[in-house]
Amino acid sequence: MKKLVFLMGLMGSCLVSCGTQTYIHTCTHETIAEAPEPASGRARNVILMIGDGMGAEHVWAAWLCNKGQLNLTTLPVTGFSITTSASHTITDSAAGGTAIACGHKTLNGQVGVDAEGKPIQSLAEQMRQAGKATGVVVTKAVTDATPAAFYAHVKSRKNTDAIAAALTEAGFDVVAGGGSDNFTPEQREKLKKECSLCELAAPGDCAPASKRGDWLPQRVEQALKLLEQDKDGFFLMVEGSKINMSAHVNDLDETVHETLDFDQAVGVVLRWMQKRNDTLLLVTADHQTGGLSIQGGDKAKGKVEGHFSTFLHSGVAVPVYAAGCGAAFFAGVQDNSPTRSRPEALTCYMLENRVLPYK
Ligand SMILES: [Zn+2]
Repeated sequence: MKKLVFLMGLMGSCLVSCGTQTYIHTCTHETIAEAPEPASGRARNVILMIGDGMGAEHVWAAWLCNKGQLNLTTLPVTGFSITTSASHTITDSAAGGTAIACGHKTLNGQVGVDAEGKPIQSLAEQMRQAGKATGVVVTKAVTDATPAAFYAHVKSRKNTDAIAAALTEAGFDVVAGGGSDNFTPEQREKLKKECSLCELAAPGDCAPASKRGDWLPQRVEQALKLLEQDKDGFFLMVEGSKINMSAHVNDLDETVHETLDFDQAVGVVLRWMQKRNDTLLLVTADHQTGGLSIQGGDKAKGKVEGHFSTFLHSGVAVPVYAAGCGAAFFAGVQDNSPTRSRPEALTCYMLENRVLPYK
């Protein structure tokens, strides 16, 4: 009887997750040897990179597959970000993105508004007000919840029409990603005319990393070349959007591909930063997806054995990596938005002390 109950339990757990998967990555991606050290002073430029759903486990799976080397793991400052939302222990991308973009926790599903539904100015909007150039580069639709938190203020992440209209009016200098079918021809025309770079690469999401080539690292390089021309500096948000999706379907191979692709984009930024000391790079995630754990592997062979425990998000804190101007602040454990005990946490501190003048 005990055995039967055990077997039934096992079968039940197989319904919510696959068994351990093995993936061997056959090529090795180039990484940089050293990231810029933390520097003092106020950052002129801020590059915020979000691996959607990228927990520490996704990073270590990619690390094993890239034979024990990543750009991410060279960043000199590391910490953890607690991702709980105003309504749930396990956040969604809308509330997670809003906390990072606007410095306020909100209800799951809400974008760019506080828990009461009141609009909150985002980092990108404040930077733009300070005269800086702004951009978003993502691999899913540019109207998805994470990028939307930087320019839209809607009570539902599903309100794509309002989100597309907000992006059309946001005045961003760089817009690259998928989601062309979410815009009217007039909106697309306006974006093309007004942005230095506007590429709506696909009607829905961009292709998966294994089929996308180096689209993301290349767009990041292009964006940096354009944005660096602004004399007041710039704010760029880059999202490895599909790490989340691959983990949602418990696809270890594609999760690793997406994380390595994101890491290559981090490498592009680090190489660009080596020539300067006026930029803060902050890399984090909005939440962890898939409850991935590492069950084994071999970094000499680029091999990982991973096990997903859910098709949903999980509730763990996610890693934070920082380099450059003001990076030192991001060490340790902090919330994804300011709290009473740590009012200066993450974005607000970054805004008020590191980038924008004191209020
Ligand atoms: Zn997400």
